[in-house]
Amino acid sequence: MDLQKYFRPEIVAMAPYKPGEQPGATKVIKLNTNESPYPPSPRVRDAILAASERLERYPDPLGTSFRNAAAGVLGVSPDQILCGNGSDDILTVLTRAFVGKGDRIRFPFPSYILYRVLAALQGAVSEEIPFDSHFQLTDRFFQPDPNLKLVYIPNPNSPSGTLIDPETILRLARQLDCPVVVDEAYVDFAPRSCVDLIAQDPRILVTRTLSKSYALAGLRFGYLVAHPSVIEILRKVKDSYNTDAISIAGATAAISDQTWLRANVSRMNQTRERMVGALSGLGFQVTPSNANFLWCTRTDRPVEPIYAALKSNGILVRYMNYPPWGDGLRISVGTDSEIDAMLVILESILRV
Ligand SMILES: *Cc1c(COP(=O)(O)O)cnc(C)c1O
Repeated sequence: MDLQKYFRPEIVAMAPYKPGEQPGATKVIKLNTNESPYPPSPRVRDAILAASERLERYPDPLGTSFRNAAAGVLGVSPDQILCGNGSDDILTVLTRAFVGKGDRIRFPFPSYILYRVLAALQGAVSEEIPFDSHFQLTDRFFQPDPNLKLVYIPNPNSPSGTLIDPETILRLARQLDCPVVVDEAYVDFAPRSCVDLIAQDPRILVTRTLSKSYALAGLRFGYLVAHPSVIEILRKVKDSYNTDAISIAGATAAISDQTWLRANVSRMNQTRERMVGALSGLGFQVTPSNANFLWCTRTDRPVEPIYAALKSNGILVRYMNYPPWGDGLRISVGTDSEIDAMLVILESILRV
């Protein structure tokens, strides 16, 4: 039976989003999906256990406890926060809310591949505008277009770890007549955020996640910070219970423990800087990073065999290819001992 014919043509035609590998073996040193190598705050476990006593009830549809805690941390009002099942859920809600069939979505290239998938789901057109050689936006990115309905800017960007300064993003929002989503999945590792820009231009929307810096990739919790009237309308678009009682409790505990967050971020940023030195010493071109990963390329030999050799030694990094732009290895910051183990093996691989 031809079951394909029942699907919308956009769905049949689209390429699926491929997440990084999640190996079953626990011996693997996992440096491929930018998870935290350190555990979440111990308060998270306590909060989850307490929440598990009340699972016969539906969760709070708006995640009020989390919104109150996050508002305090960010210095915004709780009605400026929308909770999501990971920030990917927030990105889905935004795309569904702003973008229809035939509309255009703009984002830089190379960046987060999910934006392309979300555009395809809507039957929309992706405008992937290449970064300049320093991973900054070119003039083309600022061109107004009546069909442009949404802009995504990962900041810091993946896979490069680079940052666009908030002044540039404000200038972009003022130039384009559509919402500009700043995807701040990695912002806790960076010196500056765009949250303060929302008060200056309510077309700026900021997404955050607890998956990376808060070490909760397995919990699934992300959120949007935006003008209250944007949040109010988006509530109609999200699933009624898009965050569950366990994740609301865990995320509230995590964001309330800023001391734990800061300690982990500062350890990881120190490890990152040590990695920059060591990987440069091994002949990689390493892009200066504001995130918990490094983008590493080389001109003297191909990097895909290096990825494969690391993998056969139990070390998983991410090989990424962005034709015609080029390829590289995206290496997540691990614990110091994980990184030392990787460097030893890398050295032996590069000797041959
Ligand atoms: C990891 C990541 C996300 C998604 O995070 P989740 O909250 O786990 O869904 C969003 N944007 C970028 C750029 C990311 O790297």
